[in-house]
Parts: sequence; structure tokens; C-alpha cells
Amino acid sequence: MKEQKTCEKSEKCPIYDGVLKSNYILTSSYKSVYCNNGIDGKNKCKRYQVSKILGSCPPNLLPNHILSVDEIISKIKSEKKVSLVTN
Ligand code: SF4
Repeated sequence: MKEQKTCEKSEKCPIYDGVLKSNYILTSSYKSVYCNNGIDGKNKCKRYQVSKILGSCPPNLLPNHILSVDEIISKIKSEKKVSLVTN
């Protein structure tokens, strides 16, 4: 079976077709390294990895976020606990 090169999340991903539209060079770079790079790209994308585990991903998370996937998930979970407590 032929590998799909473009990430299946691209249609709804704000990084692929949204927030960075005004920055063509950065968007092209992300697409080349992550979004249009088959399984290797998805394996490197923090957005994809977080979404795969949690079922969703914060809209402002970049594919090359400096934190590890585990650290990002811990942070998201702790922030949700805080908002549950304060709301
Ligand atoms: S940024 Fe990540 S999740 Fe979004 S389309 Fe590209 S590879 Fe997929």
C-alpha cells in the first residue's frame, strides 16, 4: 500500500493552513519537514503526537515545540486541573 505523504490532520490543523499563513517561509518549512513528509514527519511532529495520545491538541502548539511529548501532556493535564479548580 502506498504511504500517504500529507498528514491526515492537515485539513483541520491550524499550523498547516491557518495561523502561519502570513509567514510563507516558516509554513513551507513546517510542511516540508512535518506535514508532507509521510510517517517520518508525523513521528517528529509534537502536534501530531500529542493529538494521537490525547485526542486533541492545543491550537497554539508548534510541531517543533521544545518540550518532549510527555512534558507537553503533563503540562496540559496540570493546566486543566487548575482550570477545573478555579472555575
Ligand atoms: S503540523 Fe503536525 S498535525 Fe498538523 S498537519 Fe502538520 S504534521 Fe499534521
